Parts: sequence; structure tokens; C-alpha cells
Amino acid sequence: SFVDAPFFHSLSKRKLDEFGLDSSVQKISGTYRIPAHAGGASILSLSGDAFALTPSTSAFVAPGVLYNTNTIEQFNSFNKSEWINSLGSDLLSAIKSGEVTANPSLLASFAVLSFADLKRYSFHYWFAFPAIHTKWDVVTPASFIERDPQLTAAIYQYLSSSDLENRAFFAYNSARQIISLSRLTELTKTDRNWWNTWTVAFCDPNLSSEPIPGYLARNLLAWCQVTLGEFQHLSLLCFRDLPDSKTSSSVLITLKPSGPFPQKLTVSGWERVNGSLTPKVAHLASLMDPRQVAEQSVDLNLKLMRWRLVPDLDLEAIGSNKCLLLGAGTLGSYISRGLMAWGVRHITFVDSSTVSMSNPVRQPLYTFQDSVDQAPKALKAAEALKTIFPGVISTGHKLSIPMIGHPPSSFNIESIQNDYEKLVDLISSHDCIFLLTDSRESRWLPTVIGAALGKTVFTTALGFDSYVALRHGGKVDTPGRLGCYFCNDVYAPIDSTTDRTLDQMCTVTRPGAAISASSHTVELFAALMQHPLKVDAPSDGSTSTLGNCPHQIRGYLHNFSTLTVHGPAYDACSACSPSVVSEWKASGWDFIMKALEDPGYVEDLCGLRKLRQDAEQYSDS
Ligand SMILES: [Zn+2]
Repeated sequence: SFVDAPFFHSLSKRKLDEFGLDSSVQKISGTYRIPAHAGGASILSLSGDAFALTPSTSAFVAPGVLYNTNTIEQFNSFNKSEWINSLGSDLLSAIKSGEVTANPSLLASFAVLSFADLKRYSFHYWFAFPAIHTKWDVVTPASFIERDPQLTAAIYQYLSSSDLENRAFFAYNSARQIISLSRLTELTKTDRNWWNTWTVAFCDPNLSSEPIPGYLARNLLAWCQVTLGEFQHLSLLCFRDLPDSKTSSSVLITLKPSGPFPQKLTVSGWERVNGSLTPKVAHLASLMDPRQVAEQSVDLNLKLMRWRLVPDLDLEAIGSNKCLLLGAGTLGSYISRGLMAWGVRHITFVDSSTVSMSNPVRQPLYTFQDSVDQAPKALKAAEALKTIFPGVISTGHKLSIPMIGHPPSSFNIESIQNDYEKLVDLISSHDCIFLLTDSRESRWLPTVIGAALGKTVFTTALGFDSYVALRHGGKVDTPGRLGCYFCNDVYAPIDSTTDRTLDQMCTVTRPGAAISASSHTVELFAALMQHPLKVDAPSDGSTSTLGNCPHQIRGYLHNFSTLTVHGPAYDACSACSPSVVSEWKASGWDFIMKALEDPGYVEDLCGLRKLRQDAEQYSDS
């Protein structure tokens, strides 16, 4: 047997996409040819289209079955003699029922037992060519025939005009008339002496230098004995000539049955490797593009989750999201790794800063050298992801998110507007937006745009020993919409970064807080993508295939507790309220300019200021 590398590729793809852990028998088809030179063993080959079952080929087609086990233990302990006996018994039934007469290619049936180790990209396989044993006496010993150009031409004429099922098996007479096996079967009913004039023949892929019939002769003889009624002897031609052969390699033998068809079925046919009964192993990792191997292995890990634990897990619903990470610091680093591990292939970073000396120990996408180089974080993060896994599509954008309460100066107004427009484009072209920056006011604009564009938004924020991960976004008019990061505030965000002392400027947090916050954010994202309502999923405990989709997860490291919190959207929110969202939709950059210059403008717009005044009056009275 010979197996093309594309067959294994096709098998592994089907294993991942279709079979899963289903190890039921699959139909495949192989091809074989009359070899061009002597000494070639019988070669049945499996190519990449073996699963298509109708290979377009000028060769001969062999129908086969593939039993692909799930573990190497199953492969090794498989009951091989039982299987080959049942294959032989199936073939005998097909001979008796006339199925083989109509489709003689079944005589070349084969079977493959395999185990595909998709992680190491090695394939263990063992071919079986079930051959039914019948007992015959030799009348004229096998010998090479004289080359007969007219017979060869007649046979090739037949081969080119017959269908795939009949191509390899036929009969001919001394007038070099070629007929199919079913035609021969009919003929035997009227011509009792047919065996005097007709020779049964098959195209023999075995080109040994000895005049020995190839393995297909056994099944053809079994068919003859069952189907062709009484005959005194039978001439059998193992046809092995190419159209332009100078000498003949074909073998003719004349036999007669040495008794009735055996009561007890004897079947042989497990392929020997260098004379011994042993499976073959193909190590393909070195032949494959390692990137392709990596992609398949990553997919496999995720699919195992579905096959073994969560059958309804929709990996596509997670992996197909384009994710935009605003902030490529500690949270951005960990969250991007988590998303990538979930199969997300499209990750974009936005960050305005460069890698500093303190970053690499907390931010796993960067190294010491990056801080020496003062590499732009967003670009470096994208590069790092691609180094870790080349299958990811990642880009980085060095830009500053315009911040409410940070008025532009005449020096930077142009670049702020450019950054604003780029940010709008990026949010528009992504499905899920992660707000991971380290100041409140930098989260405001993306919250507004995310709400206006109905995106799925996640906000993750850290305290010293606490964190919050929440989800929001979706259409503003959705009933029961969940609150954003600003929904609980009675003030619009203001400039909180100017004049901060060192301890206020750094994110002073327990290092594990960011990791916990990131993992909760990623798992919240994964669970939400499994919910049929996605971003509009209520947080009332309704579950997806991965469990709950809470609105907010609040974690506290001082007592190692986690709470899930629910909070509806607030009508007077400075970021996601309908008045703010519709004003941005109507005036875009002009609205943003006013907000950057004066947070009070936004408070008036959304009604926060009035609300506060009402509350003050109420408490005064
Ligand atoms: Zn809000």
C-alpha cells in the first residue's frame, strides 16, 4: 500500500471537522495500476480525494473502508482477525447476492485500520486486503504468455470504454472479444461449455518477476466458483501489460476446483511490512508546514472540549469574533492570550505608549529588550502574539484615545482628531471591544461609540486588591439593557491624570489582580458568545452552554471572594444614555470636542447635573 501525504491531511481535517470522536467506519476509495516495471509490489494508493469516493482516474478503483480509532491503545488491541473475517464474510455475501457481478470492483475491496495522532502528526495504519480462500487444483501451471498485441489492444479498448466498476475484471475469448463479468454470467446459462472458449481475466497490479498470480486472483476465483456454475476447468489471465510493452508480463494459469465451495470461510489479507505482520507509521510533522500543524493542534485542543465535555459548544461563535483591545498593558497582554487560547484569530491592539522598564515583569507580551528599545506597545504586542502563534491576525495601532475633560490644545488638536477618526474606524470594524486602559476618562469615548454602534463591549478595571469585569453595549433601545462602566456615576468623568503623584499614576495593584480580572473577562466573553442572544443576553441567571453570563464580576483578593452583580443601564448615564448616544450620532466630532473641553456639557446633555441639583434640593428641604 502507499498513502499520499494529502490523504493524511484530508483524514486529519475530517477527524477535526466531521468525525470528532465518532470512530464508525468510513467509506473511502483507493486506486491501483498496472506497474510500469517488474519488481514493484502490489500498490494500492490512497490520495487526498480518497474520501470523495469517485476519484477521477485512469487507474482502477478499489472500494475501501477506514476504521480510525481514537486512541493508540484501541489501535493496538483491535481484534484484527475478527475484522478481516467479517470483511471476508461481507464480500462473500456480496458475491452470492450478485452485487459483485454487477460491480466487480468490490473484489478489490480493502480496509484500513488507523490511528491519527493529530498532536504529533503521526499516523499509524494497517491495510487489509481481504482474500477469500478456495481450493483449486492446477491443470496448467502459471506461466508468462507470449505477447499478443491484438489482445492487448482489445483489452485497452475495453478498459477505456468500460465504467470504473467493471474496468479491472472481464473475460475474453480466442477471437479477442472482451465482455464484462455480468455478460459472462449470462452466457454460462446458455453455453454449458463456455469454459472451453472463455478466459476470465483481471488487471493485476502485482508485477513480480515470477509467474505468480496477484492477490486479486483469490477473490476472483471465489466469485467464479460461486457464480459460474459447473465447469471442468478455468483459465485465468493476470493481465499486466502496458499498451506499449515489448514483452508480456501477463500470467496465464488453468485450474479446476478441488471440491465444493468450502463450508468454513478462510480469509487472509493483513498487509505485511518486510515480511512481518505489523502496522506502518507515517511521521508527517516534518513534511508539513509547522504553522499548519500548529493551527490544527490548537483547533484540536478546543475541539476536544466539545467532543468530550460540552457537545453543544459553538467554537465558531467564539473564534470568529474580531476583538479590539484598547490598552496593551497588563490586562491587554493577559486578555489577548486568553482570547487566542479560545481560538480567536483576529486581535487588534490600541495603545499610545512605549514599553517601559517596569512593564515586562507584569505584561507577558514584552521583554526587557523591548523596554530598552522603547518599542511602541500596541505594535510590539501584535508582533508578540504572532510569534507565539503565527495563525493569529494581529495588528497594533499607536494612538491616544481622546479623553473627556482633557481639552485639546492648538498643538495637538489635529492629531487628536486623527486618533478619534481612527478609533471610530477600528471600533466599527470589530465585533467585541475590550476597554482595558488605566484611567476612567479614557474609557468614556469608546463606551459612547460602542453603545452607538451596538458593539459588544467589555470593561475591565483594577483596584489595589480588587477588580471588576463587566459587559455592556448592544443597541441602546434594547429593553433591559445592562449598565456600562459609568452608569452608576453621578458625575461625568473628569481629568484624573494631571498632577498625579507617582503612586497614583502607576496602576498600583496586587500582581495577581490583573490575571484574575483578565481570566474572568475572557471567560465572560466566551460564555456570552455561547448565549443565543449574545450581547443582549439578560444577566438573570439564564445560561449558555458554558453557564451563566453575569453582568459584572467583582473580585476581592483580601478575602478571595468573587461576586456577580447586576445593574441596569441608567437613562442619565454620561456615556451610554440615549441622549449622549444620539448626540454623538448626530454631531460626531463636534460633540466630542465639546465633551473634551467641558465634561459639564455632557452632564447637562444627559441630565446628570439636573439630577444632582434635584437631589440637593430634596436633601435641603
Ligand atoms: Zn452607562
